Amino acid sequence: MNSITFLSVRVDDVTFPETLSLMESFIAEGGPHQICTVNPEFIMLAQHDQEFRAVLARSDLNIPDGGYLRWAAHFRGLRLREQVTGSDGLPLFAEIAARRGYRIFFLGAGEGVAERAAKKLCERFPDLQVVGAYAGSPAVNDEDALVARVRAARPDALFVAYGAPQQDKWIARNARRLQVPLMMGIGGTLDYIVGTVPRAPHWMRRLGLEWLYRLIRQPWRWRRQLAIWQFAWHS
Ligand code: UDP
Repeated sequence: MNSITFLSVRVDDVTFPETLSLMESFIAEGGPHQICTVNPEFIMLAQHDQEFRAVLARSDLNIPDGGYLRWAAHFRGLRLREQVTGSDGLPLFAEIAARRGYRIFFLGAGEGVAERAAKKLCERFPDLQVVGAYAGSPAVNDEDALVARVRAARPDALFVAYGAPQQDKWIARNARRLQVPLMMGIGGTLDYIVGTVPRAPHWMRRLGLEWLYRLIRQPWRWRRQLAIWQFAWHS
């Protein structure tokens, strides 16, 4: 697998089909494996956050989630073949999971969101086995109880929605005792599935303008969005 390093953070050059087949092979191999959805914000956070940098370095797969990464690669004469977003990848994986009988657990997001997202996905893929959907919290005090809860459900795949970098650190910290073959931080994906937060229209996503849509819809995020420009400047 080819990778490109941006400011010391590895991004793997995978397509959607390759990502999905790696997800399946992680499950077949047995755990634990971690996937991170790298975008410019991740890369800029990792510059000052050593723990997060280590998580990204050890992760089994860093998918090119941010559209701008493809441009940044292009400017360096390199190529990332496809933008692979976690939010588009999750429903694609759910379809495979339903077919293959994988057990899925959703952890995080606002109260009741994980349950509603699970219900929506099960309506779409009736054979999908969701063995847990729970908001919980990324607080260290709640960690032991959450780990026990996930372990008892014996999922094949655990999707954690606490936002970056908490979700990715949470997974890395608990990976050994969770022993889930496939673990992935998914940010606001459950909110998209439920529809509480709308996704950018397809044409904007294709042009790599999802950040602009999010800035218009959620202007309080402007500080986080600065990461894109900082990244463009430094890379
Ligand atoms: N979230 C949570 N607990 C927290 C912080 C965040 O459940 O302490 C959830 C939040 O409700 C949302 C998700 O984490 O569903 C990701 O949020 P955000 O939109 O910041 O993530 P992004 O998609 O930008 O990575």
